Amino acid sequence: MKSYAIIGGGFTGISVLAQLLDQPDSKHISITLFDTPEKLAVGTAFAEDVRTNLLNRPVNTMYFREQGDFGVWLEKTISSKPLALDAFIPRSHFGQFLCYQLRQCQQLAAQRGIRLRIVPQRVVDLLPQDQLFQIVTGEGGNGHYNRCFLCLGTTTCHDPYGLINQAGYYDTVWPVNRIEINNNESVAIIGSRLSAHDAAIALASRCRKIYFISRKGMLPRKVSGYQNIIPQVFTQMEIKRLSATYGKITIAQLFRLLRQEFAANNCSLSQFIQHSDPGITAMSILLALNNNISYAWRQLNEQQKQRFILRWQARWQQLRIPIASPNAQKVEELFACGQLEHLHGNIVIKPQAKGFKISIPGSVSVLVDKVINASGISSSPENYPLVHRLMQQGIAAAHPFGGLKICSDSLCLLNTEGIVVPGIKCIGQLTIGEYYAVGNIDVLHSQARLAVESRWHDTYSKMACVGE
Ligand SMILES: Cc1cc2nc3c(=O)[nH]c(=O)nc-3n(C[C@H](O)[C@H](O)[C@H](O)COP(=O)(O)OP(=O)(O)OC[C@H]3O[C@@H](n4cnc5c(N)ncnc54)[C@H](O)[C@@H]3O)c2cc1C
Repeated sequence: MKSYAIIGGGFTGISVLAQLLDQPDSKHISITLFDTPEKLAVGTAFAEDVRTNLLNRPVNTMYFREQGDFGVWLEKTISSKPLALDAFIPRSHFGQFLCYQLRQCQQLAAQRGIRLRIVPQRVVDLLPQDQLFQIVTGEGGNGHYNRCFLCLGTTTCHDPYGLINQAGYYDTVWPVNRIEINNNESVAIIGSRLSAHDAAIALASRCRKIYFISRKGMLPRKVSGYQNIIPQVFTQMEIKRLSATYGKITIAQLFRLLRQEFAANNCSLSQFIQHSDPGITAMSILLALNNNISYAWRQLNEQQKQRFILRWQARWQQLRIPIASPNAQKVEELFACGQLEHLHGNIVIKPQAKGFKISIPGSVSVLVDKVINASGISSSPENYPLVHRLMQQGIAAAHPFGGLKICSDSLCLLNTEGIVVPGIKCIGQLTIGEYYAVGNIDVLHSQARLAVESRWHDTYSKMACVGE
């Protein structure tokens, strides 16, 4: 009997669990899932919090096992009136759906006689011993396992301005409802993307003045809905064909394909890039391409990837990750009435006897009572304490484009020498260097399936993953 450990029980961890239970030989395995009680099933994104934290995609585009399952569950469980499937609803509803999915997995395991244990603890170490791994949690050793899935999810850089331990500094924006603020206080939110918007909307009725502070001054664009699009040109088959014809894929070739995909849907890529309102069709094309963009990234060579990062990375994120229109409208109103301001440039934040001084070269300084870090998701493996331990032991290596080195065909971990580490697969944000577009449920869902169905390595092997 093989024993599996899943470390991290957010969307990705429980997707792996569901896939494992569906395997024909699942009767012969035991599964242990590790996560803290407050994060179990909901992870970081979908935990209980203020109701103004909205999903960035409408109901009909969110799912767990298959398209449409979230909407069906919502209609049966939560909604008292007819449900608009194209509505942007609170993220916590999707969290409740994931809790339901976890209960379903527990029932299924019990029915099939599969041993499923949930350990409500954080894993602090993973120690290779012979052909097994010993898992150590904050409370001590917690068993030996043959195989392990790292589903550690997203993390943030907690201290971009060196303010940790200062009174009035919040190192993360989640959950927003724990942030203490008074009506006459002012707050600076580090960042100007989606999490910063969530915080501003949630705090607006509770404070006097809000500042977004960012280096580049970019704001996300708004999206008012999505339509169902099936990729016609930017397909994995077409990308494979290009690769076979030219021997390599370039960024220019991929943009050409993207332009053709837009044209096939009566849309213009250049208008999409230039205009502040991206339009429903354009955003729907990009949503439909999540898995294909990740695939295309894996076909680029290092030089082309580097070129994309330097030229497009920041802009692409702004284009690709929009804010739901109900919240975009609230933020526009806050800007219009002057309660919200955006300060950008090379900002310096200095703690004062009371509060913080925010200075921007060539502009006046402002004083604020509180500072909240909403600087976004980090792709540095060093920001994950467990991964830091694995790197110290030499069983994990940083990927040059973020996250960890993995074998793209099986998601097995690679060590510093490119050798497959037996028994460990990695899924989600930590695969960003290899998979690029990992901040959406489509790619995570595909990865969970691939991780469960692709082969395992029980001994160290040099890149044996490729093409197997
Ligand atoms: C605020 C926010 C909103 C988002 N909204 C959307 C959306 O609307 N639609 C969408 O498609 N995507 C959204 N995303 C993208 C999102 O990241 C993914 O869709 C998905 O939720 C990520 O799931 P995950 O399980 O990989 O990560 P997470 O949700 O981060 O879960 C990882 C889990 O691992 C646990 N963990 C970490 N380290 C350890 C350890 N050492 N021991 C035990 N457990 C550990 C954590 O406690 C956590 O529960 C959002 C992301 C964020 C951050």
